[in-house]
Amino acid sequence: MKPLIVANWKMNPETSDKTKELLDSINKETVKNREQVVICPPFVYLSLVKDIKKGAQNLFFEEKGAFTGEISPLMLKDAGCEYIILGHSERRKIFGESDELINKKIKAALRANLKPIFCIGETKEERENNITKKVLLSQIERGLDGVKEAELGNIILAYEPVWAIGTGISCETEKAKEAADFIREVVTKLYSLNLAKNTPVLYGGSVNSENAFSYIKEGNFNGLLVGGASLKAEEFLKIIKNVL
Ligand code: PEP
Repeated sequence: MKPLIVANWKMNPETSDKTKELLDSINKETVKNREQVVICPPFVYLSLVKDIKKGAQNLFFEEKGAFTGEISPLMLKDAGCEYIILGHSERRKIFGESDELINKKIKAALRANLKPIFCIGETKEERENNITKKVLLSQIERGLDGVKEAELGNIILAYEPVWAIGTGISCETEKAKEAADFIREVVTKLYSLNLAKNTPVLYGGSVNSENAFSYIKEGNFNGLLVGGASLKAEEFLKIIKNVL
């Protein structure tokens, strides 16, 4: 499976001019790897992303209606999105998203033919209490509840240890690999070995150009979810060059 590199720009950059500048730098250098790079900007900048795959960072599970401030899966599809980040720890923590809500969003995304990048991961406290596997199992079981075998082909899992996100403290490759192996074990149990083999598992959490390739080579991951480092064109391009 070819590695996928996903940029999660979160609530950045601050202006459309800065967004265009960043996109121009990335676009110029990624001609060869267009199929393997995904940019997830804020909603209002989606239309600026051209000639490269794009995704969004959130959606609401209804198709349309009186849901002030929300965006539907069909609107995102219409805006040219192929991917959607769901279950991100910032949404779980800051916006109180539960596994049940994330599950509804995943199913709604699949109905609209969007590919969910489903984020899971333990907090520092959970790791220290040795319950990482329990947490991952519960997040996967609840998040994928009712998702059928035939739909799993559109799901991408992203292991994102919460303590590694935006902290500069990346997860050791060996520990991350343990989590990736466990995630594939869970998918095997819930679905099948074949589906587990074909479901991409990404790593996210303080990825930079120095550590990026180790997650692919030694960590056995199928790609990366990159936050902070994807906002610096030079650094992001180095990551792409080192991995693809
Ligand atoms: C993220 O937000 O998904 C992420 C991985 O962020 P960072 O790379 O900044 O840790």
